[in-house]
Amino acid sequence: MTPSAPDTAMRTLMERLYPVCRSITGEGVRETLDVLREKLPALEIVSVPSGTSAYDWTVNDEWNVRAAYVADSTGRRVVDLADHTLHLVSYSVPVRATLTWDELRPHLHTLPDHPDWIPYRTSYYHRDWGFCLTQRRYDELADGRYPGPYEVVVDATLGPGVLNYGELLVPGESNEEVLVTSHVCHPSLANDNLAGIAVAVALAQRISAQLRRRWSYRFLFAPGTIGSIAWLAGNPEAPARVRHGIVLTGLGGPGPLVYKRTRRGDRRIDDVGAGVVEGRGGEVRAYSPYGYDERQFNAIGFDMPVGRLSRTPHGEYPEYHTSADDLDLVSDSRMFEALEALSEVVDILENDRLYRNLVPHGEPQLGKRGLYPSTGGRNASATVMAMLWILAYADGETSLWEIARRSEVGFPLLKESAAVLCKAGVLADEGPVEDSFR
Ligand code: ZN
Repeated sequence: MTPSAPDTAMRTLMERLYPVCRSITGEGVRETLDVLREKLPALEIVSVPSGTSAYDWTVNDEWNVRAAYVADSTGRRVVDLADHTLHLVSYSVPVRATLTWDELRPHLHTLPDHPDWIPYRTSYYHRDWGFCLTQRRYDELADGRYPGPYEVVVDATLGPGVLNYGELLVPGESNEEVLVTSHVCHPSLANDNLAGIAVAVALAQRISAQLRRRWSYRFLFAPGTIGSIAWLAGNPEAPARVRHGIVLTGLGGPGPLVYKRTRRGDRRIDDVGAGVVEGRGGEVRAYSPYGYDERQFNAIGFDMPVGRLSRTPHGEYPEYHTSADDLDLVSDSRMFEALEALSEVVDILENDRLYRNLVPHGEPQLGKRGLYPSTGGRNASATVMAMLWILAYADGETSLWEIARRSEVGFPLLKESAAVLCKAGVLADEGPVEDSFR
């Protein structure tokens, strides 16, 4: 695979999904999952009926919208869902009414500090309706440029249906799993979270193409909160299978990579996720009970080892949850770096092993085994340093990844060097690292 290939594919996928009017249920989610299934043919699309109990929650009625607009007295549509999916408050109840400006005004949402941006608002659990618009358009309405009374139409349905999520299992040698999740409920917003979806799809494709996998990998594309909780409720045996997990979100926007630890903070995914992100100049944060679906998986009743990878997190960049979170905010190189970082995490989870130095009394003589460059340059080569680090720490208890963390020699070079040392008979492979947290 050439490095540029996934960039184009991720961008193309985001461009295709950007205009779709998604919410936590309805046609937009199904259309999105159908597109993902073109990329991941084994993706299973699951339907959970409205009204289904899911722990402390109940699956919402299904919401679908055909059209929604505000028209002035001359029939000009001054706010129209057809122009941008953010114009309608998600889950707005059906409305057909003629309203005065004073009656309409409380249903309008703007961002006075960013007069050209449209805010993103939802009303999932409180039955209401509303429109989101630029402050500029709001001021024009207030100035009487578009005279009332206003015709308000929300041609929507809200009633019994289903909630959908997508699930892909890439089987490995073990039935134990690595869980990778991404939410699929936001409409035309690129960083939050088409970027996470696109990176998850590219990662699923990479992992599927690997010939051998130690772990099984489960990819979950679910609406935020209720989607993940519905998955957990429908699969009560799932948490015990998940040995490592990561939530993906906001991977194409501004800032360096940010790894958010699990609630316990000392799971293996924390060590690996934090190490990989620090190695790329990123930031590591402690757990907090707010954010994305890491808060479902880490809840006390599940206690799953699920961290989160993002860039600048939600609410910390001005474009968050506004129309300015568009395809221009998301950079291909940042998405690609996130994919590379996740590939590193997978490589470590798959290949971290314990080794034992079979020649532990002093430094083994690498030269007589043909492992030391005979030309004797001023500094030992990176390969020799990798071998020396392994031999210094390979006591059967310190894993290759722990050696990588101490030495700052990259894990891939350590892996190659360990294979060379095993072949030369100075190192014994003592098997994969067993995870000890349960
Ligand atoms: Zn969001």
